[in-house]
Amino acid sequence: MTGKVRLSDQQKHRAARIAQEKGLTCPDCGGSEPVPTDDEILAHQDGGADVSMRCEGCEGASEMALVLSPEEAKALGLHSLGERAQAP
Ligand SMILES: [Zn+2]
Repeated sequence: MTGKVRLSDQQKHRAARIAQEKGLTCPDCGGSEPVPTDDEILAHQDGGADVSMRCEGCEGASEMALVLSPEEAKALGLHSLGERAQAP
């Protein structure tokens, strides 16, 4: 089951760091410091997750998808995926 999960500010910071480690860059300006677009991310049944990111540098319209493996999602603190994928 997939579902939306709400991120804390700290988790958003971690997601931004993971994006940097993965080398995610802005297609508009080449900036390498994208931030999560939203407080909510899409969690997958396998434990992974997709995070929509956007560039803070140029505030371009382009969104980038950060795909987290189950291990990365876990590192982000999304350990309860599957049980509570639907946040209240
Ligand atoms: Zn940019």
